[in-house]
Amino acid sequence: MSSMSNLGFDLMAHELAHQWFGDKITCGSWADLWLNEGWATYANGIAREMVQGKPQFIDFLKTCNERITRNTDGAVFAYDTNNVNNLFFGDMRYRKGAKVLHLLRWELGDDVFFNATRNYMANAALCYGFAHTVDFKEALELESGQDLTDFFDRYIYKEGWPTITTEWHRLPAGKVTLAISQVTSHPSVSFFPLKIEYRAKGENKDTLFIVDHSMGNQNAIVDLGFKVEELYFDPNFWLISKDIMVEGLHLDLTGITLFPNPAHHTLNIYVEDEKVNELFIYDVQGRLILEEQINTPTNNIIPIDVSSLANGLYTIKVNTEDKSLLSKFIKSALP
Ligand SMILES: [Zn+2]
Repeated sequence: MSSMSNLGFDLMAHELAHQWFGDKITCGSWADLWLNEGWATYANGIAREMVQGKPQFIDFLKTCNERITRNTDGAVFAYDTNNVNNLFFGDMRYRKGAKVLHLLRWELGDDVFFNATRNYMANAALCYGFAHTVDFKEALELESGQDLTDFFDRYIYKEGWPTITTEWHRLPAGKVTLAISQVTSHPSVSFFPLKIEYRAKGENKDTLFIVDHSMGNQNAIVDLGFKVEELYFDPNFWLISKDIMVEGLHLDLTGITLFPNPAHHTLNIYVEDEKVNELFIYDVQGRLILEEQINTPTNNIIPIDVSSLANGLYTIKVNTEDKSLLSKFIKSALP
């Protein structure tokens, strides 16, 4: 039986969803409460998406993300089931539960995610009975063919979320470079692999693109075909995260692009339409600090490990097949 203190849209959608997530299948233990409350909360979001429209759905997801990331710790799975306030903690069981479902939908796609949920609801071993977290995981794995053990560990059983820093820089000919790194809010998870959606705007164009953020301190180059004026992180709020967007300093004097700039671990060098043969790095006193010969001349991105350099301003000289190019970069500790 659902009891309602008002007849507002959101509460009605949530309580109706409990006909399925709660009544048709009851959580197998209090520790699995998110199967009831995370799902009823997400069903409220889906009701907004289907009935009210996308802006109302985005607003719902944004609010969930803000509420979740007020807490640096806390798991979706309820380990302490003796304390009612902790058990029914809205930011974890309800909102993070809902956002984990949204993230699964993003990772697996609509067809797999919703088919798996229908199969779970129709499973004769579960319906009109009860289910544990692992039963829902199995339904997703059966439909997707993927092992979701790591995903459930990070998002259901362990704690925290990532802050993603994206330093971006325009390249000539409609390209952008992205240097992506993350720190996590809780030591139980050291890294969250993510499929990140970005929105790029410029020259009256507006497009979405995806970067797989599968490792730390990652660099990507994306060919968008127009001059990007604005870049937005995760505009559809698929992720549970905070983000920092940094537009890289434009220190290139000559047609060399250096990114990220300031550089922390890796400095990437990119020269449009020229093959790089060798490069030299000098400090402010003009002393040669680093020299690198490129055995196979290339106009791809050349990564240079600058982690051992002292913080400060450096000059870089790049020799291509027919010219020398100079530029400057800053080495700094992570912001
Ligand atoms: Zn509820």
